[in-house]
Amino acid sequence: MPIPSWSPEDGVRRVLVVTAHPDDVDFGSAGTVAAFTSAGVEVTYCIVTNGDAGGSDRAMSRADIAALRQDEQRAAAAVVGVSDVHFLGHPDGMVQATLELRRDISRVIRRVRPERVLTQSPERNWDAIFASHPDHLAAGEAAVCAVYPDARNPFAHLELLDEGLEPWSVSELWIMGPGSGGAESGIAVETTATVERKVAALMCHKSQMTDPDAIAQRVVTWARDTARVAGLPDGASAEVFRVTRIP
Ligand SMILES: [Zn+2]
Repeated sequence: MPIPSWSPEDGVRRVLVVTAHPDDVDFGSAGTVAAFTSAGVEVTYCIVTNGDAGGSDRAMSRADIAALRQDEQRAAAAVVGVSDVHFLGHPDGMVQATLELRRDISRVIRRVRPERVLTQSPERNWDAIFASHPDHLAAGEAAVCAVYPDARNPFAHLELLDEGLEPWSVSELWIMGPGSGGAESGIAVETTATVERKVAALMCHKSQMTDPDAIAQRVVTWARDTARVAGLPDGASAEVFRVTRIP
């Protein structure tokens, strides 16, 4: 059964993407982000860690790798039309879905006031263990809790009211990643016109790339396979999300 396709005329003007590490948004949804920004939708990134446990250069200080990865993420964001990037600075490799992280994500939601939040799946996918990094599961869980109930509840994280941040109700939650889409609750975003920008965004994460050509090829193949599953024509590219609407 084909998966319904995203329409640029759905009325959503602001989207927030919440991920654990620099580069997660580019693997998971940069083709979609480029499609959104091309349609005039404002997209903001909220990255939970600075990625200071990434890379493979042991001679580099962890503070330097964190600074480098933030720069790489800002450059990758610019490739797909995003200039607003928030880093929450939680330690890479130690993310937990604590009340503190839920508050930090709620703070960004109340500032940005997005109608739609994209995040990682809080559920482990046994067929895609790299996509199920513990930081991804924890960031996804905290983001889901921030969307509902924290950001919309005036009595959650009272300090946010003291900061002048009024409650905000996000109306759509999109979960990214392999296995997250379903025929009944999924939505496909065609990325045929943007997959090249997705690859260019990924290539900005130079500190993470041991074999950039192989990664580029894999990403293009994934996008084509996803489009086929979504029922799009041969040669098309797509990303698929599980969508939950929140009244
Ligand atoms: Zn990651």
